[in-house]
Amino acid sequence: MLDYLGLEADLTTEERMIRDEARRFVDEEVKPDVGDHFEAGTFPMDLIPKMGELGFYAPTIDGYGLPGVGDRAYGILMQELEAGDSGLRSMASVQGALVMYPIHAFGSEEQKERWLPALGTGEAVGCFGLTEPEHGSNPSGMQTRAEKSEAQSASERSGTAAEKDGDEYVLNGSKTWITNSPIADVALVWARDISAEESPVRGFLVETDRDGVTTDEIHDKLSMRASITGGIGLDDVRVPEADVLPGVEGMKGPLSCLTQARYGISWGVVGAARDAFETALSYAKERDQFGGPIARFQLQQDKLAEMATKITNGQLMAYRLAELKERGELRNQQVSMAKRHNVRMARQVSRTAREMLGGNGITTDYSPMRHLANMETVYTYEGTHDIHTLVLGADLTGIAAFE
Ligand SMILES: Cc1cc2nc3c(=O)[nH]c(=O)nc-3n(C[C@H](O)[C@H](O)[C@H](O)COP(=O)(O)OP(=O)(O)OC[C@H]3O[C@@H](n4cnc5c(N)ncnc54)[C@H](O)[C@@H]3O)c2cc1C
Repeated sequence: MLDYLGLEADLTTEERMIRDEARRFVDEEVKPDVGDHFEAGTFPMDLIPKMGELGFYAPTIDGYGLPGVGDRAYGILMQELEAGDSGLRSMASVQGALVMYPIHAFGSEEQKERWLPALGTGEAVGCFGLTEPEHGSNPSGMQTRAEKSEAQSASERSGTAAEKDGDEYVLNGSKTWITNSPIADVALVWARDISAEESPVRGFLVETDRDGVTTDEIHDKLSMRASITGGIGLDDVRVPEADVLPGVEGMKGPLSCLTQARYGISWGVVGAARDAFETALSYAKERDQFGGPIARFQLQQDKLAEMATKITNGQLMAYRLAELKERGELRNQQVSMAKRHNVRMARQVSRTAREMLGGNGITTDYSPMRHLANMETVYTYEGTHDIHTLVLGADLTGIAAFE
């Protein structure tokens, strides 16, 4: 595996074990049929509990049955998963960084005990509902609203959720492009609390079997096909006050989750690029044209040298982010720089790798075009490339070009 500057030599024993376990899992359990899933537009559902057993969801959390590994180990895990497919890494990212992280950081003890063990084993699946049909890059414009109301009496209640005392919120609105919503047991929905002064954004843990919740699947994707995506419709959905995250108000709630997830993406896409590169390298050594392997042509060697250098740059950024994160010094703008750089790098590398495979490169028999198609989503979600450019522009100049 490409590690041109020998970065893996510095890994701890625990980090090596996590790398090797994730690599074995991807080689044995993911790669053999991920192309078929991509073609069919399905996610390998049997892998959800297996990833839980292996401790792949939110492994940096300590307690609640979770192993509490370091941030670099987590990054390495994301890298190995995305070498399999971005859909797999998205599953682990959403479950871990976008659902378990906020429950751990902002949830009540009751919420943590109820959800973290179940999400950690994959017995329950979570999703993160921020984007709306009219509000993508500008989530603070969200229209989904929650209004406080007196709890209905037991006889008035319907739905399967456990009964609770106290006030309830009534949620209305719609979210779209939500990874895993059609298969989720719980949705972390970000909504404006219109009963409170200035209508702050708050996080609501909404079980998807509550009356008034719909989670229709989006079927016509040409990217991230081995991943389930859908909407969340909320029509007078009653949620007990005990299911509101008590520890955060305002956009810093969802934005802090996104920083966690973008850190994982900055690592993950290096894995996708590396897999595309490795595929192109071995193909170039085996594919004969004009009486010998295409790897002997200078034009092909130029492509390999460029790809290896770009991937190595991406690896260096990811490793440095991990150092800063472990020291508690990582700024969200630094994560923006790495997300922006590494996703663009992986998009370019997977395109070049696809090109080196000739006609075979456009099939699902080889990974580069699948990675390339996936990169179109990764370039867009968790803040588009443009939005991260503006974040960096604001940080560098002190002048924000957007609200
Ligand atoms: C497969 C997939 C899975 C996803 N999963 C989730 C999920 O789990 N949860 C969730 O909440 N969301 C999710 N998303 C949504 C994703 O985060 C949004 O698509 C993304 O934020 C962009 O929003 P948008 O699609 O509405 O594009 P828009 O915001 O409409 O942007 C359109 C274009 O305009 C550009 N643009 C916008 N504003 C500016 C500006 N100020 N200056 C310059 N250019 C600008 C953008 O860069 C982009 O190129 C997912 C998306 C996809 C495709």
